[in-house]
Amino acid sequence: MQPPPLTCFLAGQPIRSADTLTIRSPFDGSVSGTVTLATRADTEAAIAAATAFRDTPSRYQRAEILEKTRAALEARREEFARTISSEAGLALREGRYEVGRTIDVLRFAAMETLRDDGQTFSCDISAQGKPRKIFTTREPLRCAVAITPFNHPLNQVAHKLGPAIAAGTPIILKPSEKTPLVALKFAELLYAAGLPGPMLSVLLGPTADVAEVLVKHPDVDVVAFTGSVPVGKRIAATAGYKKLVLELGGNDPLIVLDDADLDLAVTLAAEGSYRNSGQRCTAVKRILVQDGIAPEFTRRLVEKTREYVCGNPLDEATKVGTVIDEASAVYLETVVKEAVAAGAKVLIGGERRGALLQPTVIADVPRDCRMVVAESFGPLAPILTVSDLDDALTLANSTAYGLSSGVVTTNLNSAMKAIRTLRCGTVNINEVPGFRVENSPFGGIKDSGLGIKEGVIEAMKGYSYVKTFSLPW
Ligand code: NAP
Repeated sequence: MQPPPLTCFLAGQPIRSADTLTIRSPFDGSVSGTVTLATRADTEAAIAAATAFRDTPSRYQRAEILEKTRAALEARREEFARTISSEAGLALREGRYEVGRTIDVLRFAAMETLRDDGQTFSCDISAQGKPRKIFTTREPLRCAVAITPFNHPLNQVAHKLGPAIAAGTPIILKPSEKTPLVALKFAELLYAAGLPGPMLSVLLGPTADVAEVLVKHPDVDVVAFTGSVPVGKRIAATAGYKKLVLELGGNDPLIVLDDADLDLAVTLAAEGSYRNSGQRCTAVKRILVQDGIAPEFTRRLVEKTREYVCGNPLDEATKVGTVIDEASAVYLETVVKEAVAAGAKVLIGGERRGALLQPTVIADVPRDCRMVVAESFGPLAPILTVSDLDDALTLANSTAYGLSSGVVTTNLNSAMKAIRTLRCGTVNINEVPGFRVENSPFGGIKDSGLGIKEGVIEAMKGYSYVKTFSLPW
């Protein structure tokens, strides 16, 4: 027997429409769940409910809601991990990891809710000054919109909703239609923890009736979007006069210099390339190895890749599940074939079965291949050789993206030069580009974003505005 459909929510009330969407496992096509869909009228009503809401819970109440949600998620962490694996095709260990990250987001958001955000300025500090004081306080926005991608279907949602709730701003979520189940379950936890209905709506439906209405609506104060570059740029072109937080695609390099600890470099290359089926915006998408150590590094990476068992996402032995769908796996196969036609060599992996693509090491990749110029969202480990640090930095900076990066070296001068020279949002030395904690500032530049950071603390700034006031005492 199928479970009843999960519902979208209009200001906390379930939308029980007859229009439904069926979500299937990318691994075997089995039904993972069904969701009810919203209409254009629901979308407009959700915006009206958000902007009319005045009864903002106190900081204490908001922190309690986030803490109760965290506790409820802790209690159901395995169920949520399995939902992620089932709808996204990600290995169970990835679902479990993602639930752990989401628990952190909720914990940090609750902590930040309680932190005072005001500043004080004495005004007698200049010849033009007066004996007054200026104070600042952060005010909620009327209505925020969050649009999220498929690849971290719970954590990306938590990174939008947690900081918005912490800031006291009503928010409307449009999750990915490929992975809406865990997002809707998460919303249920928030309501059960006491979140007032008008502070959250969750809507799915035709793009023209839901996402585009949300993006263009004049009563929406901020659109926080995480997803691909083309959709992000379309939003930037159509949103009109409002704040935009855009977290877009990546093409992150892992630079391996000849003084690197090779075991560490190989581990980081494999983890960076294959975790989450290579579908992280900050996955390692290009491995730039100094030519003297390239043969030994490549040999060891091929050996390491054998450990990444690829198969049924729900099997405990599986380390790499599917990519999001068969079309994505076919695209990845195509870019590998193009690279091979241009002279690259597949050393291990490359076989595809449906949406399953074996972790793949590709050596001698020419610098102009689509696989390494554009974003390849899957478990590929393309190796490009570089002559020295300068060559690596020039190549690293050569794409349209600027999200994150990793550099493996034991030389502090090289590390500092890389930090200064790389044109991207993050540089991690002796770590994968994706390393972060959930409250540290995160976000890209160039095509990867507008340079406005996320992470709980920065995101709260996006969901609020600073009010300045002054007093004559
Ligand atoms: P996507 O195709 O851009 O979709 C993202 C979201 O945008 C989905 O909810 C999608 O809805 C919605 N959308 C589609 N068309 C829209 C429109 N015209 N207006 C408004 N919203 C619209 O991205 P994806 O394939 O799900 O995710 C993968 C991408 O996200 C990769 O490029 C990855 O690098 C990037 N990403 C970036 C970060 C970061 O922090 N920088 C983090 C994670 C992922 P539907 O589901 O209905 O299509």
